[in-house]
Amino acid sequence: MGKRVLIIGAGGVGRVVVHKCSQATDVFSEICLASRTKSKCDEIAGELHRSIQTEQVDADNVAETVGLMHRIHPDVLINVALPYQDLNLMEACLAAGVDYLDTANYEPRDEARFSYEYQWPYHEQFQEKGLTALLGSGFDPGVTNVYCAYARKHLFDEIHHIDIIDANAGHHDLPFATNFNPEINIREITANGRYWEHEWKETGPLAVHQSFEFPDPAVGTREIYLMYHEEMESLIRHIDGLKRIRFWMTFSDSYITHLQVLENVGMTGIEPIDFQGSKIIPLEFLKTLLPDPASLGSRTKGKTCIGCVFDGMKNGENKQAYIYNICDHEQCYREVGSQAISFTTGVPAMIGAKLMVTDVWKQPGVWNMEQLDPDPFMEDLNRYGLPWQVIEGKPFFDQLPR
Ligand code: NDP
Repeated sequence: MGKRVLIIGAGGVGRVVVHKCSQATDVFSEICLASRTKSKCDEIAGELHRSIQTEQVDADNVAETVGLMHRIHPDVLINVALPYQDLNLMEACLAAGVDYLDTANYEPRDEARFSYEYQWPYHEQFQEKGLTALLGSGFDPGVTNVYCAYARKHLFDEIHHIDIIDANAGHHDLPFATNFNPEINIREITANGRYWEHEWKETGPLAVHQSFEFPDPAVGTREIYLMYHEEMESLIRHIDGLKRIRFWMTFSDSYITHLQVLENVGMTGIEPIDFQGSKIIPLEFLKTLLPDPASLGSRTKGKTCIGCVFDGMKNGENKQAYIYNICDHEQCYREVGSQAISFTTGVPAMIGAKLMVTDVWKQPGVWNMEQLDPDPFMEDLNRYGLPWQVIEGKPFFDQLPR
């Protein structure tokens, strides 16, 4: 029997989730897209070949979201609004008896500190109600966690080192734009870098960087920057025997220069300031000036390459492997009207929801992706547009600092 899905958030990622759920006619018989601004839902609904329901909802208001769920009876809620809404939407799912999925962990608005420590404590409540909550079902976090589970299951007896590398070799004709929600993106990038090597170690924001040659010539050799990223927090818990995990992301020189100038003049701050008698938050103001990431689709060309480099042991021998996906911005735009960053996030959100509603990943409690069987997810990545490749051997691990 077809399932009902409620998607909350009609942004760049939401558009892809809606397109992909509507393509999966064998799984999702009814789709409702709800967001703060209903006209954005209607615009996305107008791009589809089948009809879906659209609704206005304030996801910060638990009672309102519960009321919506009581009207439409979804089997699963896909949260692709912002990380600020995670806890309220989890509360709403518990109250309405609906499974929950998101792509980014909770972050308080007044503190740039995202962590699973706010969401993990819901585990018992979800278990008691027989409900599943799947955390971080995007690409990174998300697919990168599933790559780790796959490597642990099929390629290694022990994984010692993981380097997650996220490259966007896409380009557009704008001087400065972020790939996804500018406020969330800039909060993440301007934070201190952090990696784990038996304990957490901190670096300055984007202070550690080096060049890395990617497997696809269209991505080429690029500068990668060490950053903190949320999947490390769950992977150090769930991958036994891990000695070190780091996360790297590429940025162009022009991007870094713009960011530095904005930071230097205080435009990335999240503390309220007085402006002509009113309080404004500089980063929120900056967001209103920057291009909407959803508008970048038609302008962006080039490819992304996101993956994990592993080092560990197999059959008593030292072994390295690299699992990655290459995604083409223009191909994504042709298929769903979005650039690859939204595409690589939205497709795994749909796959996670599909595995939950078809009972493959239905397991009461709150879960990170690496805790569940990676095989059905890896199969669906190939099926729904994010094919992956494995290269075994040292060349990629050897490029990284020991
Ligand atoms: P956008 O800003 O484009 O979209 C967010 C949408 O959520 C907007 O339509 C916004 O409404 C809506 N929204 C915000 N607040 C509320 C609310 N209180 N009630 C209802 N709707 C609300 O963001 P993206 O699509 O770029 O990102 C979506 C999510 O995906 C974010 O959490 C982001 O962190 C995550 N992400 C995860 C990645 C991964 O790989 N794991 C990668 C990229 C993003 P309005 O239009 O009215 O403002």
